[in-house]
Amino acid sequence: MSDCLFCKIIAGDIPSAKVYEDELVLAFRDIAPQAPTHILVIPKAHIASVADISGDSSAVVAHIFEIIPQIARAEGLDSGYRVVSNCGEDAGQTVHHLHFHILGGQKLALQMA
Ligand code: 5GP
Ligand code: ZN
Repeated sequence: MSDCLFCKIIAGDIPSAKVYEDELVLAFRDIAPQAPTHILVIPKAHIASVADISGDSSAVVAHIFEIIPQIARAEGLDSGYRVVSNCGEDAGQTVHHLHFHILGGQKLALQMA
C-alpha cells in the first residue's frame, strides 16, 4: 500500500528504531511513547486492522504473538506489560495497518475507555 505509513516504514522509506525483524514481522519503537517501553509490532503484509484478520492472514497474527513475549523478555519487561490493538474509529485507530502496541516499564493505569 503506497500511501500507508507503516508500509513505508517496512520499505525503509521512513526511518524507524527497529527492535525485531524477520520475513513476516517488524517491531519498532513508537515515535510518541505512552510508557517507558512502547513498541509496535506489525505484519509486513498490509492488513488494515483486527477487523480484517481472516483465515488467510491469521497465521501471521499467531506468529506476532510468538514474537511478542520474545521482545518483552529482551526489553526486560519481567514484571508485566500490556498488548493493545486499536481497531477502527471508536478505538482511536490512527494508522490503518494492523499493529500491536507493547506497553511496559511502569505500573500501567487500568483504563478500559
Ligand atoms: P494507533 O493510534 O493507530 O493505535 O497507533 C498508531 C501509533 O503509531 C501511535 O502510537 C503513534 O505514536 C505511532 N506512530 C505514528 N507515526 C509514527 C511514525 O512515523 N513512526 C513511529 N515509530 N511511530 C509512529
Ligand atoms: Zn500498510
